[in-house]
Amino acid sequence: MRNKLIFLTLTAIILITSCRRTEAPEIRPAMADFILNTVCVIILYDRGEAHIYEEIFARIREIESRMSAFIEGSYIARINRAAGIEPVRVPPDVFFVVERAVQVAELSNGAFDPTVGPIVALWDIGGRNPRPGLPRIPSQEEIDKLLPLVNWRNVELNRENQTIFLTEPGMALDLGAIAKGYAADEAAAIIRNARIPQAIVDLGGNTLLVGLKADRTPWRVGVQTPFAERGVYLGVVETWETSVVTSGGYEQFIIYNGVHYYQYHHLICPTLGRPAQTGLISATIITGVSMDADAFSTAIFVLGHEKGMELVESMEGMEAIFILEDRRIFLSSGLAEGVDFILVNDDFRIAGN
Ligand code: ADP
Ligand code: MG
Repeated sequence: MRNKLIFLTLTAIILITSCRRTEAPEIRPAMADFILNTVCVIILYDRGEAHIYEEIFARIREIESRMSAFIEGSYIARINRAAGIEPVRVPPDVFFVVERAVQVAELSNGAFDPTVGPIVALWDIGGRNPRPGLPRIPSQEEIDKLLPLVNWRNVELNRENQTIFLTEPGMALDLGAIAKGYAADEAAAIIRNARIPQAIVDLGGNTLLVGLKADRTPWRVGVQTPFAERGVYLGVVETWETSVVTSGGYEQFIIYNGVHYYQYHHLICPTLGRPAQTGLISATIITGVSMDADAFSTAIFVLGHEKGMELVESMEGMEAIFILEDRRIFLSSGLAEGVDFILVNDDFRIAGN
């Protein structure tokens, strides 16, 4: 309700400024664009000046142009082309994200692996592979051939020279599970620099909340009901000044000869080279750094609920909500049921940890 009031006020401000023809900056309630293969929405609740939105979207586009494996000439594409040949010098932001990706790979025992690129291409995840006959379900033989290329230990990072080298020919980095989170952090940095007290950054469900709501109450973030229409939520997270990111196996699937194969989703188990089947339908991670929330939500989906929860509990300032196929919900120890997470769908139940 309060949000609506703010929206109305902003609309009123726009009307007033346009009537008066003053020099006041153009104010917008929100802005959206399709970048990083997803819908990016920014809502600045106070002083949402057009130039700040522009600055944020320019930065997100820059991150995409540097870090997407699918953009010709991006640093990641260059690193992939130079696999087994030579190291590639990269700007600090690319180095920073790849370095963190490798750290998360280590922390998750390889469940998150930024070198999953060749397997992602084989399954045609994201549908960006123009080869004929895709998507299709690859044979075990094809998978086995590529699996040795998936190994985060073969990413050589040289901090002094700011270079990245994939030691084996055919290796390929894919930052699809971490770049959106980094982009959200960068958007938030611009927002905080501009001293905007309340804002929402939503990069395709990769949410970052700046501050509290204007009435000093927490933000309410819906947790998507798996397999339901987008926007239908089974519960609400109440939180502030943090990032909330969900990895869900229901978000992408293969349609092959007209049949929906929900078991063939976009979250790959790097040891099997197949979509992870761990009994989890989604993993929501809440933590301050969106890049971590993004990477860990993928890692944990692949790890499954027991190992995943162990990892969450070992990370400082990280909380999680897991939804299992059997409709049980698990909350990490720092979340209180009915306070931080409010369940609104009786088909699901919160299980004791
Ligand atoms: P979404 O993009 O739907 O938010 P994620 O953040 O979990 O989901 O990222 C999934 C993407 O990350 C996949 O499309 C693929 O490019 C890549 N990916 C898939 N499995 C892994 C993995 N185990 N480790 C690292 N990246 C992965
Ligand atoms: Mg992710």
